[in-house]
Amino acid sequence: GGAFLAFRALRPIRHLISTVRSVGPDRMDARVPIPQTGDELDELATLFNGMLEKIEALINGMRDSLDNVAHDLRTPITRFRGTAEMALQSDQNPEICREALADCIEESERMLTMLNTLMDISEAETGVMKLDLKKVNVSALIEGVADLYRYVAEDKGILVHTMASNDLSLTADPNRMRQILANLLDNAIKYTPNGGRIDIEAHHRGEKIVILVKDTGIGIHPEEVSRIWDRLYRCDQSRSQKGLGLGLSLVKAIVQAHKGHIEVFSEPGKGSTFIISLASDDPLS
Ligand code: ADP
Repeated sequence: GGAFLAFRALRPIRHLISTVRSVGPDRMDARVPIPQTGDELDELATLFNGMLEKIEALINGMRDSLDNVAHDLRTPITRFRGTAEMALQSDQNPEICREALADCIEESERMLTMLNTLMDISEAETGVMKLDLKKVNVSALIEGVADLYRYVAEDKGILVHTMASNDLSLTADPNRMRQILANLLDNAIKYTPNGGRIDIEAHHRGEKIVILVKDTGIGIHPEEVSRIWDRLYRCDQSRSQKGLGLGLSLVKAIVQAHKGHIEVFSEPGKGSTFIISLASDDPLS
């Protein structure tokens, strides 16, 4: 009788053991049956399944990231190789060789930047990006980034105007926040014709702090708006400007890693407004 009871009581453990045995690189969907006894074994099985789910999501995320990086680097690597081959076939004409070498250096720099940005995007999207969370004064943050870009904007006769009260604070990684704003401001300057205006504003909206980057630039066509967040996507009308098409993907991934939200309102020929909302440290009641 005792042996029978012990055998029955250990059944959930046997399920657990067989599930652990079956888990492997191509069998991540195995789960332990929950005994539904309401005791510690139930809890253990539920926790174990939760852990398997997290590992599965992480592995899938990493696999997708690797596929994406490999796919995205294929074109520049092919271009790089093409340039080098052309130089080799040029009968050692020093002028052509020098030009090809310069192109190769430029292309390799592009690839490095691309690789770093793609890695950052993957990290942020899969939730493994390390965020150095601190109390951030939003006004100081905006002023700092605006100051960095004022000269570039002045060169194009663009006025950069900032407005944020000094009491706005949020918990975030200050460097990543600077990166977000720098990307948005860089785009605003790039896609605004000479003599335009850019406004960066921040204010409370309920429990959130919203940061707006508003420009009077070329705007985005409604059918392209949803695609600007995709990796490597560049709108037709902006191809003449330099860019990798990764800035907004990174911005979105970092905002989401901070549990925030970003959206855009845009009208072709009139301008665009990017709005970030993040949890405030001192929500207004
Ligand atoms: P890029 O390196 O091309 O600027 P992004 O990912 O930053 O890449 O932006 C993706 C595309 O979204 C840009 O190529 C451009 O077409 C469009 N875009 C982004 N910001 C703006 C803006 N402020 N005004 C108009 N178009 C924009």
